Amino acid sequence: MDCLFCKIAGGEIPSKFVYEDESVVAFRDINPQAPQHILIVPRKHIESINAFQVEDKDLVAHILVDVVLKLAKDLGIDESGYRVVINTGDEGGQTVHHLHVHLIGGRSMQWPPG
Ligand code: AMP
Ligand code: ZN
Repeated sequence: MDCLFCKIAGGEIPSKFVYEDESVVAFRDINPQAPQHILIVPRKHIESINAFQVEDKDLVAHILVDVVLKLAKDLGIDESGYRVVINTGDEGGQTVHHLHVHLIGGRSMQWPPG
């Protein structure tokens, strides 16, 4: 499958991971929207939230409970605040069709998003 994030997660495209384990990798966004902008990507190819299966529940919990929180602490943005975003589908602004969680912080955010 010709998927950018599968290639990054699989090491086919060399990348510097800020975190990795058996189920996810995390790396800096190439076009950061804030001083800290990390993408957390499951190794498993899941196209979007719409493609979640029941068996993905542990993976989703792992990403939020373990990985987002660890990275927010490591980056020193857990107290100041941050944003966690999963863009989904065309109107959601998804451009890479391999599910990924944006962890964005290090500046004040506005609401509503653009
Ligand atoms: P989304 O628009 O939610 O699908 O997010 C895709 C993100 O992937 C964008 O923020 C891009 O800047 C980022 N991106 C695209 N290619 C790369 C790459 N090779 N390495 C790191 N980030 C990338
Ligand atoms: Zn993929």
